[in-house]
Amino acid sequence: MTDFLALLNPAQRQAVEHYCGPLLVVAGAGSGKTRALTYRIANLVLTHKTDPDNILAVTFTNKAAKEMKERIEVLFAEQDAQARHGKALSSLPQYEQTKLRSQVYKTVTKHLWIGTFHALCARILRFDIEKYQHPAGYRWTKNFSIFDESDAQGLVKTIVTQTLNLDDKKFNPRSVRFAISNAKNQKLTPDELEKEQPNYRGRVIADVYRYYQKALAENNALDFDDLILMPVFLFQQNEQVLAYWHKRFRHILVDEYQDTNRTQYELIRLLATNGESIATYEDWNHRSVFVVGDADQSIYSFRAADFTILMNFQDDFGDGLPDDDTRSMVKLEENYRSTSNILEVANHLIENNTERIDKVLRATRGEGESIYVYRAEDETAEADFVISQIRHLETQHPELNWGNFAILYRTNAQSRAFEEVLTRYSIPYQVVGGLRFYDRREIKDVLAYLRAIANPFDTVSLKRVINVPRRGVGKGTIDKLEQATQTLGGIPLWEILADDTSVKTLAGRSAKGVLEFADLIKKYRQDMDDQKGSEIIQGVLEDSGYLAALKAEGTDEADDRFGNVQELYNAALQFEEENVDDPSLLAFLSNASLASDMDDNKDGKNAVSLMTLHSSKGLEFPVVFLVGLEQGLFPNHRSLEDPAATEEERRLCYVGITRAKERLFISHARARRLYGSREPASPSLFLGELPLDLVTGNSTTGLPQKWSTPIREARNRSEAAAKPGSGAHESDWTVGDVVVHKAYGAGEVTHIFGAGNKICLAINFPGQGRKIVDPKISALQRAE
Ligand code: ATP
Ligand code: MG
Repeated sequence: MTDFLALLNPAQRQAVEHYCGPLLVVAGAGSGKTRALTYRIANLVLTHKTDPDNILAVTFTNKAAKEMKERIEVLFAEQDAQARHGKALSSLPQYEQTKLRSQVYKTVTKHLWIGTFHALCARILRFDIEKYQHPAGYRWTKNFSIFDESDAQGLVKTIVTQTLNLDDKKFNPRSVRFAISNAKNQKLTPDELEKEQPNYRGRVIADVYRYYQKALAENNALDFDDLILMPVFLFQQNEQVLAYWHKRFRHILVDEYQDTNRTQYELIRLLATNGESIATYEDWNHRSVFVVGDADQSIYSFRAADFTILMNFQDDFGDGLPDDDTRSMVKLEENYRSTSNILEVANHLIENNTERIDKVLRATRGEGESIYVYRAEDETAEADFVISQIRHLETQHPELNWGNFAILYRTNAQSRAFEEVLTRYSIPYQVVGGLRFYDRREIKDVLAYLRAIANPFDTVSLKRVINVPRRGVGKGTIDKLEQATQTLGGIPLWEILADDTSVKTLAGRSAKGVLEFADLIKKYRQDMDDQKGSEIIQGVLEDSGYLAALKAEGTDEADDRFGNVQELYNAALQFEEENVDDPSLLAFLSNASLASDMDDNKDGKNAVSLMTLHSSKGLEFPVVFLVGLEQGLFPNHRSLEDPAATEEERRLCYVGITRAKERLFISHARARRLYGSREPASPSLFLGELPLDLVTGNSTTGLPQKWSTPIREARNRSEAAAKPGSGAHESDWTVGDVVVHKAYGAGEVTHIFGAGNKICLAINFPGQGRKIVDPKISALQRAE
């Protein structure tokens, strides 16, 4: 019955068959962590008869969530095919396959909660947001809008320039929004932020934050940070609500756990434990929390992700068990993705990081080709090289299609040179994470209509489309209407719009246009509960004159936008097919607001992928080009002086290398035009860290054998200083030892990870937090 387990190695199998209690799976790239997580969901349902409604799985993108559901669906359909017909699924007639899959959908996949933190939280809030008590008394209702980054920055800008009358050059909306987001992620209120940063700038930012939060509430809107914070606050203040969700989700699974931040961690902890402390391992009765991750792939510390959360998992959840107890920790040590050459290059590189736990990652595949390092004259020549390789490989290898190639870079701006050459040769490509479908002007317009219909307190959306298409409602009219809302004590704009007499009095000659608009919104509000999202989109597009205006324009650009709007309608139809249980406008809208960069590559199957290294996490491609390996670009200039930041860049490089299955090309240019001027560029320090015997290309002779980085020097010194065997063995240390570290000074050992002579110490350095140190790599002196 459960022969899908045969597709796993023994360690994966152990992880998959784990039933109750906490389990941490730590393993390097491509070792099948995501596969283990997926199979475990299947195993819970098939073997343990867990109700799919009781499972919550957190993935890194919506696309990953969708793929995971599909994989599970196929696994189940396969079991059914075997049980009912004694045959493999693929050997059955197409209609029989479809029938089996749709049964699985109805009974299993439809019920699973799989998604990103944001998507899952939005879903929870659609049930319970009305129970949340805000300290300032603000209220939200379940038809809340989700403001994306550009909406949020727009709001900040209005507050800076209009409410507070400040110069938006000094208080750049983008950086102010970033500061607010940071404060939120540390769970600071505006008052607390002000106390923490009592200088002028800090006070102003705290003030903007205060108005910003008020404005969000007035719009019945949340930003991305609130989506996660609010459930945490709600769970902390309302025991009953937490008890419900705690009971609901018996099994919690998290992928890419190394990039979890404090708030997300707290959410998981609350859900898993009901906010209680766990005294013994046996407390986990038919419940589990299962996380998989790789500290070497932690690349989001700039968004407050904190990989010590991963390191602390066993302490936090596994009370009563020793750290290396296999009941709470599994290591996967075989890599199934990459050739051994690619893997060795990756392992070799990451060993240059000091703050890491050594781990084993064995290749299971053949050696493969050498890694090719190419030195180009400039960025155009680099693009020419990459595209000529792609064309060459694509013709030489019939099994390769365009979709098997990926070009990975450090910053978005690098994509242009590649796009030009790809276009020249008519090679299909997609820029993953470029201007997202949902960020396009026309799509935001239509969504603003829908949001205003669902949530007429969303003044931002109302204002966006009150005069789109043109209805003769100018800025003067809108200002007048808004002044009236202020005079009346800050009532929502909609209250005025919805009242014909007020509009006529205030809007004068523009009243006709305003009333037309208000009637449209009212009409669709009435139909909202009976009509599907797709029907409302179609109706609004016709009734508002939006489509007619695009048609009348008759330009290529308008045609393009017409096509996009049509595509949104298709997206709604598809959404309704896939979500038969909740095809409402509200559900579609929150899905659209959260669709991430990675989700719109519908036609991406046969196109070369271009993306940043950050976006490439979790993915794999037969052929990978890692481009722009130059000092100041990768590693990024901000990290050059900061060893910890350099280590994060190196992890990013490790992520990039380990995306490759068969072939890896790495390139750098001797001069590069980036942001305007052309500058000479020197090869990245990471190039010097590649094992030269596995590398060929036109650049290898030009690479220094070893780069003398501060880290490497420190490491060499410590290797020389350490007596063989001393300090590297488990028995050399006990918790409570006080040690001196070269960079961090004195600290106290709080944990010892690993066993024998493969250990790492967690050391608390006062004022600098906890660091994970491998005593073989970093010199540690015992303080006497
Ligand atoms: P990353 O750290 O990059 O997220 P991962 O650890 O999640 O990687 P997966 O994406 O689950 O790794 O697996 C990597 C590849 O190896 C996939 O193509 C997967 O299908 C394959 N794979 C995983 N486990 C096995 C196995 N036991 N036998 C054969 N192939 C496997
Ligand atoms: Mg993965």
